[in-house]
Amino acid sequence: MKKTKAHCNSCGGVKNHEVLHSETSSWSDDEHQISGSDQFDTLKCGGCDAIKLRHKSSFSESDEDEVTYFPPAIFRKPPAWFDKLRKKLKGKDRFVHRLLKEVYVALQHDLPALAVMGVRALLEAVMISKVGDQGTFAHNIAEFERLGYVSRLERARLEAILEAGHATIHRDYEPETDDVITALNVAEQIVETVYLHDDEIAALSERVPPRAPRAPRNKKPSNPPAA
Ligand SMILES: [Zn+2]
Repeated sequence: MKKTKAHCNSCGGVKNHEVLHSETSSWSDDEHQISGSDQFDTLKCGGCDAIKLRHKSSFSESDEDEVTYFPPAIFRKPPAWFDKLRKKLKGKDRFVHRLLKEVYVALQHDLPALAVMGVRALLEAVMISKVGDQGTFAHNIAEFERLGYVSRLERARLEAILEAGHATIHRDYEPETDDVITALNVAEQIVETVYLHDDEIAALSERVPPRAPRAPRNKKPSNPPAA
C-alpha cells in the first residue's frame, strides 16, 4: 500500500499514513493559460489508525499546493480538561466552553485575528461574570486581581492579551498564529483556575475529615528532643 506523510490530530503532528484511496482531477483554461488539479486522498494514520481525507489543490499560478484536511487539522489540541469543563459549567457560565471552542475552531481554520478577538471576548466575559461589570476595562481587571482570581504577574499577562485583542479589532493588527497560542495559553490557565481548580479544592476540603479538637497542651513535651 502507498505511504505518505500527513498531519494527524490524534497523534499531534506529521505522521506516516497509508493511502487507502486516491482520486485526482485536473482542469485547464487555454484562453488564460492557467491550469490546476485537485487530489483527494483517504488516509489511515500508521500511529493511531485514524481516518481522514486530504485535499491537495495545485494551481499553475501558485508555487505551493494548498493542503486541507477533513476533519480540519488541529495545530493546538484543546486541553485534557476541556470536556470536564463543559460538564462543570452551569447556567450563565456555559458561555466559557462555547467561546473557547469557537476559538479552537478559528485556529483550526487559520483565522488568527478572529481567534484573538475571541480570546479577548472570552476573558472579558469571564471577568464580568466573576466580579460584575465595574464600568471600564481597567476597573474590571483591577477587581479581578483584588478578589484573587489572578496574581499580579498573571494580571500583566492578561492585560497584554486584552491589548492584542483590542489592537486586532481597532488598529489593524494582524496577529501571528504563535501570538494566538500565547494568548490561548494564558486564557486556558485563567479558565482552569477560575472554573475547575476552585471547585476541585472546595470538593477536596469537603472530603478531608476535620481535625479533632486539640487536647490541652502539656507544659513539657512528652518526647524531649535529644540533645
Ligand atoms: Zn495518528
